[in-house]
Amino acid sequence: GPRNNPQAQKPHSNFPNKPRNPNSMARRERIKRQRESLPIASVKELLVEEVKTHDILIIVGETGSGKTTQLPQFLFNAGFCCDGKVIGITQPRRVAAVSVAKRVAEECEVELGQKVGYSIRFDDKTSSFTRIKYMTDGLLLREALLDPYLSRYSVIIVDEAHERTVHTDVLLGLLKNVHNVRSNFIKDHDNMDDKKSNNRTMKGKGTGTQCTSFLKHCHGRKFPPLKLIIMSASLDARVFSDYFGCARAIHIEGRQHHVDILYAFHPEPDYLDATLVTIFQIHLEETPGDILVFLTGQEEIESVERLVQEQLHKLPEANRKLLTVPIFSSLPSEQQMRVFMPASPGHRKVILATNIAETSLTIPGIKYVIDPGFVKARSYDPVKGMESLIIVPTSKAQALQRSGRAGREGPGKCFRLYPECEFEKLEDSTKPEIKRCNLSNVILQLKALGVDDIIGFDFMEKPPRAAIIKSLEHLFLLGALTDDCKLSEPIGHQMARLPLDPIYSKALILASQFNCLEEMLITVAMLSVESIFYAPREKKDEARTAMKCFASPDGDHLTLVNVYRAVDRLLEKRKMEVVNEKNLHGKNEKFLRNWCKENFINGRSLRHACDIHSQIRGHVEQMGLCISSCGDDHLQFRRCLAASFFFNAALKQPEGTYRALASGQVVQIHPSSVLFQSKAECIIFNELVQTTNKYIRNLTRIDYLWLTELAPHYYAMQS
Ligand code: ADP
Ligand code: MG
Repeated sequence: GPRNNPQAQKPHSNFPNKPRNPNSMARRERIKRQRESLPIASVKELLVEEVKTHDILIIVGETGSGKTTQLPQFLFNAGFCCDGKVIGITQPRRVAAVSVAKRVAEECEVELGQKVGYSIRFDDKTSSFTRIKYMTDGLLLREALLDPYLSRYSVIIVDEAHERTVHTDVLLGLLKNVHNVRSNFIKDHDNMDDKKSNNRTMKGKGTGTQCTSFLKHCHGRKFPPLKLIIMSASLDARVFSDYFGCARAIHIEGRQHHVDILYAFHPEPDYLDATLVTIFQIHLEETPGDILVFLTGQEEIESVERLVQEQLHKLPEANRKLLTVPIFSSLPSEQQMRVFMPASPGHRKVILATNIAETSLTIPGIKYVIDPGFVKARSYDPVKGMESLIIVPTSKAQALQRSGRAGREGPGKCFRLYPECEFEKLEDSTKPEIKRCNLSNVILQLKALGVDDIIGFDFMEKPPRAAIIKSLEHLFLLGALTDDCKLSEPIGHQMARLPLDPIYSKALILASQFNCLEEMLITVAMLSVESIFYAPREKKDEARTAMKCFASPDGDHLTLVNVYRAVDRLLEKRKMEVVNEKNLHGKNEKFLRNWCKENFINGRSLRHACDIHSQIRGHVEQMGLCISSCGDDHLQFRRCLAASFFFNAALKQPEGTYRALASGQVVQIHPSSVLFQSKAECIIFNELVQTTNKYIRNLTRIDYLWLTELAPHYYAMQS
């Protein structure tokens, strides 16, 4: 198609800062009408009846039909929260949990955190009054550590089950078990009652035939039966139904308008470039309607955001009415809601999203979808024991979901940025994550939950045996497991308590022994967010110079510590200067934003890292670990990194590349590393990213000899 290259001019204003004239009566009325017009509204009574009569229910419904926001409210109103019990709804993604909870709180006209709340890792907005609780699937797994029968919940809704994240799969296994236990408890209880009254009745056996009515049984019982609802946007309910013993499955009809699918004529060598061109093609040539673009992650989104802004400046004033709105999982929650705000009149909104917008979030107003056809996925090589992030083509199912987003409110258009013949080559659906990820984390959690036989665990789909064994070995080498594969005391238990990847938990535990826990807390927090530094294409040199102010010759970890400390000092100083100002917080905010911009630091990531830092600090304080700083003695810190990340060590090769010691893979230092041009002989790294090359990121220079000294159980074994 014709692809105009827009030309240059002036900056452009963004959203109105506040929602325009929040006429709350009108808004309430509008929300009420919206709710009543959702496809799910017409089957409300039917759904409630189904939940009452079936302990396990699979609900399949098109995205946007109202499953996530409405069903919990229906159940609440039908009395499923009596005796202070809670309806829990799990989401694979943080953003979805937060934004849906906010929406539902508004629909219920309550303050968030009261009747309706959410809880995600490092952010809890619930109270003892919360009855409808949105959370991530990972968080419910963690709750099970403290409350194995999930006794606070009368209903658990596993939403977005089609995504098949590793947490969803493990959670389903766990819930199947909890459901059985809680049903049996009721049965035993009933039998006891029956014996007492000499009035035996026949009861069905097993989950499939269990037909206990919730309301009949919820009084005076320690555990009411657990109502389990699995919701999915994929049409194939069979896998879930089979897993739960032929559980009942119901379909909710959606309303879908026609979507024109347009393909590229030729493969695009640079899909970000093609995305940019297509955004402006739509903006300048198509009728009004918002655009939704699917990108693979924060970095891509922010880079496209900047490129769009730049191109806009080159356009004549009249053509600049285009707003960019990013949405990805680590976006601060107050910024997430911007995707739902309508743009000012006459403006077009372009939403730059990860696959969060595929099914988890339904954003009103979308008429155009741009689908470059890629997604970032985890990939695990059990032989090499290496997990990496790779950008891979989407599946057909994902491509269909994405194009469907354009046809929710009327006919739409989807631009697939690849040729039609490529579509035919795509996989039908995405492989469940449990088949392609490092399992150390879930194994540690299952062990902590008392599931010792991992290979025998009733997974919906078994992970590869080799991956289980490699992950067990990994945990053993980290000291989390004993010789007979039980959780070790205290290390294994401590590691399971921390809401972090096992290797990071181990690093924190070790750091208290190496007297550098201060530094390690900062490091782990900074590594938990996607890239602190950013380098826009056209300002690479400036960004590099700015980074030099923080760079440590020892590597990226200390560089990150330097950034964090610089911010800390800055705010400390600032606090004293502006002590008399009323709006201290707001001023700091702006000041910090400018500082970040000048220093090419990603303010969003930084703030997220600060949040995470204070949370993990709380955890390690509770655990009684000794928090001290190594000061200028970086040797301690580097040795601690070597002792923690010894799996990920790499040695320099004569030709300048590196060889990962554990896997033998040839890898290269990522250009974003401060060690990119150094000649470090031996390094440890945190991440392996596979694009055209295998890149390692977040490195620190270490001494090769430390490996055998600090991880003899591994390196003595290797040689
Ligand atoms: P499903 O779970 O079936 O995909 P949802 O319950 O998420 O559907 O969404 C139902 C409707 O609620 C959609 O039309 C969506 O646009 C609307 N909606 C959800 N969240 C918000 C929000 N924060 N602001 C405005 N509309 C929203
Ligand atoms: Mg939903």
